[in-house]
Amino acid sequence: MTDRTLPPGLHRDTLALRTAIDRSQYGENSEALYLTSGFVQADAETSARRFAGTEEGFTYSRTSNPTVASFEQRLAALEGTEAAIAASSGMGAILMMCMGLLRAGDHVICSRSVFGSTLNLFAKEFAKFGVETTFVSQTDVAQWRAALRPTTKLLFAETPTNPLTEVCDIRALADLAHGAGALLAVDNCFCSPALQRPVEFGADLIIHSGTKYLDGQGRVMAGAICGPRKLIVDVFGPVVRTAGMVLSPFNAWVVLKGMETLGIRMEAQSARALAVAQWLEGHPMVARVHYPGLPSHPQHALAMRQQSGQGGAVVSFDVRGNDPVTARKNAFHVIDSTRVVSIATNLGDTKTIITHPGTTSHGRLSEEQRQAAGIGQGLIRLAVGLDHIEDIKADLLRGLDTLA
Ligand SMILES: *Cc1c(COP(=O)(O)O)cnc(C)c1O
Repeated sequence: MTDRTLPPGLHRDTLALRTAIDRSQYGENSEALYLTSGFVQADAETSARRFAGTEEGFTYSRTSNPTVASFEQRLAALEGTEAAIAASSGMGAILMMCMGLLRAGDHVICSRSVFGSTLNLFAKEFAKFGVETTFVSQTDVAQWRAALRPTTKLLFAETPTNPLTEVCDIRALADLAHGAGALLAVDNCFCSPALQRPVEFGADLIIHSGTKYLDGQGRVMAGAICGPRKLIVDVFGPVVRTAGMVLSPFNAWVVLKGMETLGIRMEAQSARALAVAQWLEGHPMVARVHYPGLPSHPQHALAMRQQSGQGGAVVSFDVRGNDPVTARKNAFHVIDSTRVVSIATNLGDTKTIITHPGTTSHGRLSEEQRQAAGIGQGLIRLAVGLDHIEDIKADLLRGLDTLA
């Protein structure tokens, strides 16, 4: 179950193709899909040793599976962490992390701007078990510092955020966490390791929704935690084995193959997103564009340092409208005038996706909460895929140029 013997010092592009468990006796070039729940043991003694953990070997796919192991090794290689552990979804990964690290009485500090389900998981589900969370500004480190308590065990951030692409300073938050004896976890979904490796800035744990850019073609749900081997093996391993939020071998295989093209996809989608963002900034019916790759973005310089000089593939923009009712009508007009891009709420797909956050991902918030989060009714999120840039522009112009 060791890595294939690859020479040290390989580049990320190569690791994305080559890191996996050993080939089977058949010598397949594309990694095999081991779609099996159980594994046949040579004899009862071998079985006993494997269950006791004194011998490595596969027994049952809730404990480990060769295809899932390849996914974990490849993702860890890309993130630059010692190890990774797979989960059934991104949310499953966050659940696994918190079940492993936290107990009643512990305190968490979390950015107010994280993914909606993450907010709910901390605010509602963990609160039921006596874990308290303080929500603070995405960008103001002083608020994170002020929220620290002796019981603080975990700082949780996501950068850039959805849908406004706000960027937090990973290094500053890591220093703060470590000074307080806590860990920093970063949800790296938007950039993926192709653009941003949070461990390089001091983060301890990296969360992934493999559903997004790692798969990259909108096919399956997947998740993972990347981090130090000791935590992965001793803390999170027992949680996934007993709680069962395991990744299906089939989904692991799909994402494993998706990761092979991650680097070139992120580069190409980022370049298209930048072009769309620059072009949108010049349109008279667009009030504001939110994109870390633009100099007008409040954390542009920080984003360029953390994200390999690229903005990522998600662009959000506000369509003009003097009041919320008009702004929503205008945003809906732009969305409904498209004939190419997909009206959906996913992101990270090769197909460009257009979303109205105010009535979908952030639809359950009160108008007041939405305003506080900066999510106006005129806001549109575009998760730029690999559609030709001119076709994306023409699709948006159908609506932008026909607004009353
Ligand atoms: C989608 C998403 C998640 C949750 O991932 P699932 O695979 O849908 O469970 C977590 N964080 C971010 C930033 C996401 O976009």
